[in-house]
Formats: sequence, C-alpha cells, structure tokens
Amino acid sequence: MSRRLSHPDRPSSGQPWPAAGGILAVSLLLAGTGFLSGATSLGPVGRPSPVQAVTSAPYSIGVLVIKYFPLTADGQNIDISVTGDVGGSAASVEANVAAMTDRLPQLLSQGTEYRGYENPTAPPSVTYRIVDTVQFNTPVPVIPSTFNSNYPMRADYHTIMSNVGICSYVQNRGVQEVWIWAYQGPHQLDISESKMSGPYGDISNSYRLNDMPQCGRTYTVYTFNYGRGVALAVHSYDHQLEAELTYMDAHLFRDIFEGPNYPYTLHVMGRCGSVHNPPNARYEYDWRNPASNPSDCNDWNPNGLGTLQPISCATWTCHLNGENDDPQLHYLIWWMQHFPGLGNTLTYHGLPMRNWWDVHGDFDAAVRAGRSLTIQIWAPTTSALGNTTTGPFSSATKIQSRGGYITWRVDGGSAVANQLLEVWVYKKYSASGKWEGPTLLTTRRASSDGIAYLNIRSGSVLWMSVRPKLPSASTRPASWGPTSIGLWQ
Ligand SMILES: [Zn+2]
Repeated sequence: MSRRLSHPDRPSSGQPWPAAGGILAVSLLLAGTGFLSGATSLGPVGRPSPVQAVTSAPYSIGVLVIKYFPLTADGQNIDISVTGDVGGSAASVEANVAAMTDRLPQLLSQGTEYRGYENPTAPPSVTYRIVDTVQFNTPVPVIPSTFNSNYPMRADYHTIMSNVGICSYVQNRGVQEVWIWAYQGPHQLDISESKMSGPYGDISNSYRLNDMPQCGRTYTVYTFNYGRGVALAVHSYDHQLEAELTYMDAHLFRDIFEGPNYPYTLHVMGRCGSVHNPPNARYEYDWRNPASNPSDCNDWNPNGLGTLQPISCATWTCHLNGENDDPQLHYLIWWMQHFPGLGNTLTYHGLPMRNWWDVHGDFDAAVRAGRSLTIQIWAPTTSALGNTTTGPFSSATKIQSRGGYITWRVDGGSAVANQLLEVWVYKKYSASGKWEGPTLLTTRRASSDGIAYLNIRSGSVLWMSVRPKLPSASTRPASWGPTSIGLWQ
C-alpha cells in the first residue's frame, strides 16, 4: 500500500495517515469543537431511508373541489353583497365554474408534457382526478385579519378544511390537492392563492401560517376566483410550482431557469421566464409583447447558454380571446412544458437533472430524498474506503466547494455492521492553496446493514476517505465487506 498520494490534484504532502495512537489524539482534539475552521459543516446524521434515483412519474393527483356560492334569499342568485363583485344567476355562475373545473385537469396536465409544444406525443408527468366535490351555498368562513389593509377579513382555512374532514380525504382517498372556488371582491375576502400543510411546513404562495390541519402527508390548497377566468386559476397554481421549486433549489430555479425579470427592458437575453414575466417581458404581467427577445429556453442548458432564439408572444399566442383563452394561459402552459421533465437528458454540476415534476407529484418523497433538482445518483467506488492507516483517497470522493449539503452513502456490508466509521479528510484552503490534513471530520455509526450517510457542506475542497474506527491498540488493518461509497445527492 503506497503511503504517498499520487493523484495530481490531490494533496501532495505525502503525509501518511496517523498511526492508531495519533487518531485517538486527533479525535480528542476535535471533540466538541466541530470540524476545524472554514465553512465545512455537517448536516443531519443520516437519511431515514434510501431514495429513488429515477422518477416515479406519471403521478395521479387526487383533487377535492370545494365551491362557495353564497346565495340571495330567494336562492336564485349569487349574493353580490357577499362576493363584492360577482352576482347574477347562480345557475350560470355554477355552470361557468363547472366548465373551468373540467378544463383545469387537462390544462395542468398538458403543462407537464416535457417540450409538448414541439412534441405532441410527449407523455404527461402528472394527471389529475377529481375525487369529490363539495358545494356550499354560504359565504366562505372568515376571520378578522390585519395582513392586508384592503381586506379586513381573510379566509379561515383551518375551518374550511376541518368542515370537509380534509384528513380523511388525504389519508384514505388519495387527495393531494384542494381546489377552492370562491371570490375576493375589492374588500370582501383575502384569500391565499395557494397553501400547503404537511411534514415539511407551509411552502406556498401565502402568508405561510401553517394554520391548516396536519394530516401526516403534504397537501396543497388553491383558491381560485370565479370572477376571473381559467387563466388566473392556472396563474395561481403555477405560483405554487414556483414556491416548491424555489424551495428545492432557489438558485437553479430562480436564477438559472427563470432568469432576469424584464429581459426586454434590460436588454439582456431571457431564460425561460417566470409566471409573471416571459423571456421577452418589458414589465410585470407582460404576456403579450409582440416584440421578440433572444432566449435559450427552447434549448435551455443550466451549465451555460443554449442556442438563442427570438421569443415573442407569437411563440404561444398574442391573441386575446377572454380569460379562458389568452396569451397568459398559453404562455403558462408553454412555460411549464419547459421544466426539465420526463425523459430530459440535462445535467447540472455533473449530475443528471431529475424530472422536476417529482417535486409536485410527491413533495414529501422529493424533500425526503434531499432538497435538490438533480437526481440522486449512486456512484460507488471502493477506493475511498480505507482498510489501513493510509487512506486511500479517491477523486470520486472529492468534495467541491459549493453551497448546499452533499450527501454520501457508505456501504461497508456486514463486516462493519453497527461499527463506528471515521471520515478523514484532506482540506485545501483556497487562500493559501495548501493542503492540510488528514483530519478526522466526523464519525458515523453504521446501521446493522453496514450503511451510513453523511451530509457535508464545504466552502473549500475536501478529499474524503472512510474507514472503520480502529481500536487504539490495533496493529491490524480494519476490514470491510463488499464495499462502496458514493455521492448520494
Ligand atoms: Zn401572480
């Protein structure tokens, strides 16, 4: 076993691993102080379960629809004194809401067809099924509110959800989403376009109050205004997608996928744009700019720039035909179809891009697997599992300086079941360019299967090697079973 490190980009000091006695001394030195200096930090001790490396699409999302039609005393009309702006025949409003509810599953699902704008056979990643519809002929339950000075009352979502027994739907009937049809009026009802309840909190386009019943798994709630058209419903829905993808990786989604807010005005190229601002936007809500702006969205590449093409509203439609068929609606479908979806072959930081619809299709699974828009890969290498006091290190376990935790999975098999594993690193300080180490970064107790997880974030470059902890008096190498270590992000 060589005692020198030979990789050209590897620490060149040739320092051997410390002898067994030395390991103990270093361990004591580090006890209670965390790891050295700099920005290296350790995440949660482990992952509760292995994660999937591939998409589970297509997802079938169960939807509960709730409608609020407050009626006048004769029962014939919508009570405009409640809604503030919607009145007239209850029958016609109900028919309009039914028609929009019928269209939404198709429109939203169409948005999950990766590059469906140019590939009519692209399969959807998400489909929707209406599980149940509950209609109230009473006003939306409200509570006093100071969040918005225009609206002294806001929707009481806890009561709304409790009244329909939401947890039974979530736990027994596959409901992941609730679509509420209601009203706002100029001052009548402050609604949240989307809300979320679940084990990971309230990641939504709302005040994020965490005020709905907890049902053990995540569900989202949308409030659509039936005084407006289906385009606004998709608009509200897509803000929830923005909230979820931002939560997973704000930089990749906001900065790299969506790009600048007003590319046309700023005289910069657009990426794929946001709900409010297409790649040729001059200002907010500019879905109908006939002038083109260069954008790489049709060839979007997160690692650089794809091929630029002129993008204008003619790309989706410039034609105004009411809020059920307008540039906004067509843009939003086009925009969703550019999310890296089923069958995408993109990579980012060398990792395969996941199907982003995994996030919305099964939010809990996606978060549990790690907050990332790239997929978990299992790239095992045995070379970084040390049996001796000399390493080895491996380029496969080089930790680049980057934000966010990188998760590693170590599988030493039954030979290391329940044993304490030591993680040793060389660290390169960017200021001096010098390597320091090896240093004991941390320890992990392997499971009864010999598996351990490490979540490591580093502001500098680390080389990592893992081995079982040796008894202080040991002169024999520790032994591994059939072994592997790999990047698990
Ligand atoms: Zn908006």
